Amino acid sequence: MNTYKNLIAGKWENAMSGETFMSINPANNKDIIASFAKSAEEDVEAAVEAANDAFKGWRNTPAPQRAEVFFKVVNKIEDRRKEFVDVLVRETGKTQDEALGEVIRTINVVRFMAGEATRLAGETLPSQQHGVIAYTKREPHGVVGIITPWNFPLGLAASKTTPALIAGNTVVFKPASNTPLISTMYVQLLMECGLPAGVLNMITGPGGPVGKVFGNNDKVSAVSFTGSTKVGTKLGKTVNNRNARMQAEMGGKNPFVVLPDADLDLAVEHIILGGFGECGQRCTATSRVIVHKQVVEKLTSKLLNATKKIVIGNPANNHVNMGALIDHIQVENYEKYIQIGREEGAKLVFGGSRLEEGDLKNGYFVTPAIFTNVTSEMRIAQEEIFGPVVCIIEVESFDEALKVSNDVAYGLSSSIYTNDLKKAFGFLDGIESGVSHVNMPSIYSEPHFPFGGMKCTTTGPREQGKAGVQFYSETRTMYVKP
Ligand code: NAP
Repeated sequence: MNTYKNLIAGKWENAMSGETFMSINPANNKDIIASFAKSAEEDVEAAVEAANDAFKGWRNTPAPQRAEVFFKVVNKIEDRRKEFVDVLVRETGKTQDEALGEVIRTINVVRFMAGEATRLAGETLPSQQHGVIAYTKREPHGVVGIITPWNFPLGLAASKTTPALIAGNTVVFKPASNTPLISTMYVQLLMECGLPAGVLNMITGPGGPVGKVFGNNDKVSAVSFTGSTKVGTKLGKTVNNRNARMQAEMGGKNPFVVLPDADLDLAVEHIILGGFGECGQRCTATSRVIVHKQVVEKLTSKLLNATKKIVIGNPANNHVNMGALIDHIQVENYEKYIQIGREEGAKLVFGGSRLEEGDLKNGYFVTPAIFTNVTSEMRIAQEEIFGPVVCIIEVESFDEALKVSNDVAYGLSSSIYTNDLKKAFGFLDGIESGVSHVNMPSIYSEPHFPFGGMKCTTTGPREQGKAGVQFYSETRTMYVKP
């Protein structure tokens, strides 16, 4: 079994304590993938020092030259696509199609962000004074701390580190402990493509010590976090308290509205994709299906028929279209919410159990679950489950659908299915979500558009697109009288 190390100042190092932890295949927990450095605060501090030392050189490297590394990365991932897909499948439990989708998205995001290196634009505006040239420019912050979750361990590693580095910052990156191999492979690739020592440093191991250092060390000028609302909000308060920059993308409880005139087959196809794809472990997952009473019976029956056809199993097999949850904690969480839904009086019409027969016995497999008779105040309709559970809420009107859609603390993604343009735009006007769709699944997004939420989903500015680079740089204004 391979042992992987932290990357500090261009050298692969064990944790100072010498401690390690394992990465395990969620589809077969007897399959130990590799071991990794279990870092403590002292390791994180060393990585911050290395990033700080490398900052001046990287900041002074012209941005188009910085981008050269990333154009090489794009080509290398294209060449090694299958290898990346295989590791993603083995380490996350997602299916081959889902893993391929993540790899393609990674390629697109790196390519877009590398291109942004030649568009790090400021403004030149007329000055109020004669003979004064006034303009703005964007400059990097310094050391940026980046923390990612396990559900998109390659895509999120790329979509955060690339703009941070393109903008001229140096980085300390901490991947999720469930999926360190794919993130390590990505960091190795960046080094192979010529990233100078110390510009990107990686620390593996538990989040607590990393959060402490990123929260308190003044050399960390900005932090970008994706993960749970609980962890991100707490970290954000510490970072903001010392006036460093903070960006956090967190949980979702996304509504999917179906009006009487909707194409029900299309809606069902997209509920399956958004609710059960990646086992529902997506911040943009379709979680609350809010259906007009005129079509609720028909939609539920079509959804049941389609859900029955889902093939659950080891995602290493091509024909499988729903893989494993990431770990036993996610299984327990799923079982907890199935129990809560039942106790609250919702009707479980499909699924709700763990699968442990035959080949599945060593993996974290569950059935996709559908609750009907859900009301908006129930916990299953309010709390992020982050598993394959879809709640059907019946409403009497468009106005009620919009009200129910907004009746949660989160505000990440939303969808409406209708052919009525007025209602579609009424929904887009009234919905409290950072990303909204008409007749498109809640999980849909493109890497050159901004991504992020409202309400308790997000702290700080948007990720992705042009907005994504802006978080990683500061605007400075210059007045020049030659
Ligand atoms: P999590 O427990 O918050 O973990 C996310 C990351 O934070 C991991 O790397 C984790 O490290 C680290 N971490 C844990 N405790 C920390 C602390 N005290 N200080 C600093 N970092 C800490 O979330 P998760 O369960 O892995 O991910 C699922 C959540 O992510 C869901 O809520 C989902 O909606 C959200 N998510 C949001 C988006 C978005 O764009 N809005 C995208 C994807 C996922 P360890 O792995 O070592 O614990």
